[in-house]
Amino acid sequence: MQTLLTELTRIVGAAHVLTEGDLSAWEQDWRQRSRGKALAVVRPGSTDEVAQVVKACAAHLSQHRGCGLSLVPQGGNTGLVVGSTPDTTGQQIVLSLQRMNAVRRLDADNLTVTVEAGCILQKLQEQAQAAKLLFPLSLAAEGTCTIGGNLSTNAGGTQVLRYGNTRELCLGLEVVTAQGEVWHGLSGLRKDNTGYDLRDLFIGSEGTLGIITAATLKVYPLPCARLTAWAAVPSLAAAVQLLGLAHRHLSAGLTGFEVMGQFALSLVSKHFPDMRVPFQQTSAFCVLLENSDHESEAHARALFEQLLETALESGCVTDAVVAENLTQAKQLWHIRESIPLAQSKEGLNIKHDISLPVSAIPEFVTATDALLEAAFPGVRLVNFGHLGDGNLHYNVQAPVGVDAAAFLRTQEEQVNTLVFDSVTRFNGSISAEHGVGSLKVDHLTHYKSPVALQLMRAIKAGLDPHNLLNPGRVIRP
Ligand code: FAD
Repeated sequence: MQTLLTELTRIVGAAHVLTEGDLSAWEQDWRQRSRGKALAVVRPGSTDEVAQVVKACAAHLSQHRGCGLSLVPQGGNTGLVVGSTPDTTGQQIVLSLQRMNAVRRLDADNLTVTVEAGCILQKLQEQAQAAKLLFPLSLAAEGTCTIGGNLSTNAGGTQVLRYGNTRELCLGLEVVTAQGEVWHGLSGLRKDNTGYDLRDLFIGSEGTLGIITAATLKVYPLPCARLTAWAAVPSLAAAVQLLGLAHRHLSAGLTGFEVMGQFALSLVSKHFPDMRVPFQQTSAFCVLLENSDHESEAHARALFEQLLETALESGCVTDAVVAENLTQAKQLWHIRESIPLAQSKEGLNIKHDISLPVSAIPEFVTATDALLEAAFPGVRLVNFGHLGDGNLHYNVQAPVGVDAAAFLRTQEEQVNTLVFDSVTRFNGSISAEHGVGSLKVDHLTHYKSPVALQLMRAIKAGLDPHNLLNPGRVIRP
């Protein structure tokens, strides 16, 4: 391996091949579920350097079959399914894209922006905004996660309802293949039917098929106004009813629709007592709505008021507030975004990032809550998520007084089976937006159809026959 490290040092420079010191930022996953040991962290500064690094590793692997060498692409390392950190063998190289963070070109007429994979999502949002444009992808990790990571996980977030997942925002990619070749696919075209869609193959492949080095993404005109409302709803069925009303009243203006269960919000109140959570004491669920308007703030406010009036009359909303200004809107979003942190402060928990047809969500939750309570009396359910696009974070917290680590160790598999079986009965998916990583790789084998698995294995074998890229993630050979 020393010869390989010398070669990698020649390619990217000694300062960018890290083998010693504290490498926890690259070796430890965000949720602290797993800590690996890297052979090295390599930080290329250009697409050409990425290609040379991959070529050198591919050559080493072909000369030393069975040496266990592989590459783990990494962006901001905020992924939630242990996909971006090395295993414990000490034979994996973390390929960090963080140095490749330039916004290469913003084409306002074509409504596109071309960025490098290591660009932090928030930086891209800010650069688009400075040009009076909107890059709509938005998630709580936006200050750290990267565009390459967003594309590789097909990230969702809070604006999917209107703008789609990262896949829908991407027009073209630049990718280094497992052989170290560069596919120059940075197209800004909205129509291009010239054969198989290679772009869609790499998006969501979690670093197992190629290294994304740059992307051409869609941007949109900045709305004139974005208003946020917070509504108390008596049940999940009422939240779904409100969603239907919101679609009808706001149409394409409806850009966010988040639901939060009372227990999830009580954790925010408990662990962040400075935050004032509206209606937390009195309502079973709260909903956060966002209305983006291209006419004026007054127009947005009038539409919101009509919607909430109708909803109050029909009984699907029992109380509501509309943020008076941007600061108040940010405070409301901050409450929603603080749920994962509040939940971590409460203790270790079992996370499920699932999707279901919106219409099935109330029945799914009633049925699955009952099954969990019967199997694990006193279990606490932290339920929140992007209801507008059918995505729930349906998390399970140990009963009060039960050691959380022991609960996870002994009951996690049983809890997962119960939840995923229920998801399957309701025609849902066991991973909505976080991906598969290594945490769900075995579940995928169980819940995905044999034909789908066979096709996925054929794609992996075709593009990366020596399993150089992120082995053990997404699909096993
Ligand atoms: P990493 O964690 O570094 O990597 C993720 C995966 O992509 C790994 O498999 C890695 O190997 C691969 N990868 C990374 N870069 C590349 C590349 N250039 N080429 C090929 N493969 C690559 N996700 C959502 O979808 N919606 C949310 O609302 C959301 N909220 C979150 C909130 C918090 C507080 C946190 C911590 C995470 C959240 N996530 C969410 C998950 C996470 O932020 C996203 O998955 C994000 O897209 C990961 O980006 P990253 O740069 O950190 O990728």
